[in-house]
Amino acid sequence: MSSGEVIIIGSGFSGLATAALCAKQGFHVVVVEKNDQPGGRASVWKEGGFTFDMGPSWYLMPDVFERYFAEFGKKPEDLMNLVRLDPSYRVFFGEGDTMDIHADLNKNLANFDKMEENGAEKMKKYLESARYQYDIAMNEFIYKDYQHLTDFFNRKLVMEGAKLHMFDKLDHYAQRFFQNPKIRKILEYNIVFLGGTPYNTPALYALMSHVDFNLGVWYPIGGMGKLVEAFYKLGESHGVEYRFNEEVKKIEIEKKRAKKVVTNSDTYEADIFVVNADYAYAETQLLDKKHQTHPQKYWEGKSIAPSALLFFLGLNKRLDNLIHHNLYFHPDWEKHFDTIFKKPAWPDEPSYYVSCPSKTDDSVAPKDGENIFILVPVAPGLDDNPKIREIYYEKILGHLENLIKESIKDSVVVKRSFAHNDFSQLYNAYKGTALGFAHTLRQTAIFRPRHKSKKVQNLYYTGHYTHPGIGVPMVVISSQILSKVIGSEYNA
Ligand SMILES: Cc1cc2nc3c(=O)[nH]c(=O)nc-3n(C[C@H](O)[C@H](O)[C@H](O)COP(=O)(O)OP(=O)(O)OC[C@H]3O[C@@H](n4cnc5c(N)ncnc54)[C@H](O)[C@@H]3O)c2cc1C
Repeated sequence: MSSGEVIIIGSGFSGLATAALCAKQGFHVVVVEKNDQPGGRASVWKEGGFTFDMGPSWYLMPDVFERYFAEFGKKPEDLMNLVRLDPSYRVFFGEGDTMDIHADLNKNLANFDKMEENGAEKMKKYLESARYQYDIAMNEFIYKDYQHLTDFFNRKLVMEGAKLHMFDKLDHYAQRFFQNPKIRKILEYNIVFLGGTPYNTPALYALMSHVDFNLGVWYPIGGMGKLVEAFYKLGESHGVEYRFNEEVKKIEIEKKRAKKVVTNSDTYEADIFVVNADYAYAETQLLDKKHQTHPQKYWEGKSIAPSALLFFLGLNKRLDNLIHHNLYFHPDWEKHFDTIFKKPAWPDEPSYYVSCPSKTDDSVAPKDGENIFILVPVAPGLDDNPKIREIYYEKILGHLENLIKESIKDSVVVKRSFAHNDFSQLYNAYKGTALGFAHTLRQTAIFRPRHKSKKVQNLYYTGHYTHPGIGVPMVVISSQILSKVIGSEYNA
């Protein structure tokens, strides 16, 4: 067992997951969080009888949570009521043009066969390769800390690299299998979850189709907040202490070692310091220049992942034509991607996502009401103001009403918008990013900011900027990688 004090700055999923793992190793852990609740990007907002998940809504890669909770001798089902969604989600290509993706793969294969000659056979091949990519990635690359280039560019990668399609782009790769642009969209959309586009993300991430079609889309009854609660309570049961409404203002360094953090109301000394807050913000705002491994200039040259314009809406009626997860893909979605990555601007004709968890879960809306969350991916760093949000509210709601042939606006009883300014204010997000650090090839694995500071010996980072990256499963893995590093360096 280890001993010593660990301070964790931030109680996002990765902060909570790291806290529980460090406490299990014997450390005394204090988590300091600026907001009034745990979860970070996965905060929960309750209003008028509605419970809104403010961030993640897709519980994907269930194997990752099984592996994490197994470290504590538990199964996810011991901690939450998890259900597999069926259909997994509905895609709207336009008015009257929809497709449901089912939990039963055979149903999906039959649909692909109708959309393209030999569609089922092609899809089987695509998924075989995606499963292979997933297995190799999970067993060889993802649960691994990268310190040196040789850790990444090793014999295995050279041997497997071609089969993993590491150096191809996802869209190009999908085109090798399918002509039908609708099928390609279904195989590519989830790259937005990783903060990228099919045009700038390595084809390795075709593995997300294995996640989508084979591992399935899950949901914890009560919402993603129940998953936050599971991590929070796990830490608590191992002695983790939480301090809410305390914002760290400074990490003080002496002789290349962090000594203490200063918050708006206290100071904490510790042996080990873990930053879960956004990496870019923490390096540039909490550390003096000489202690920054990645100063402002570094971030300016990087591809920052999208922000999002969100609407949380409570309706006083039920809707017939939405299911739990709904995606609208504009026929020319590339233009929207260009406004995110190439020429940052508010998109003219956006694709968007609508979550309606009240279709599965009575607890998140009053009786006969509907809980709706709309997400439009947008470039980070845009001018965000009430006027533009209102323009998009009218635009998206109008479009959605047409799409599902039901009125919505006249039934809205709870409404909140959320965008760049909120991401910055609530989470200290650099450029108001929702997702952190994009997954381009140059920002994958060894090329992501490291878990360990190069300048300060006992300062570490966890969460979506670090390897393996964006998404709840990924930041949980980040915590497992980091706690192993800490365990080995501090003699667990
Ligand atoms: C709208 C949206 C939808 C998403 N959808 C999905 C999805 O469906 N599925 C999925 O898997 N992923 C999804 N994601 C991504 C996923 O939510 C994130 O990758 C993940 O939650 C990030 O966790 P984290 O612990 O790295 O960081 P965060 O959640 O950002 O946690 C960092 C914490 O640090 C705190 N903090 C910041 N500064 C300070 C300070 N100075 N002092 C103290 N505390 C501080 C913040 O308040 C925050 O609580 C979504 C994200 C968003 C925003």
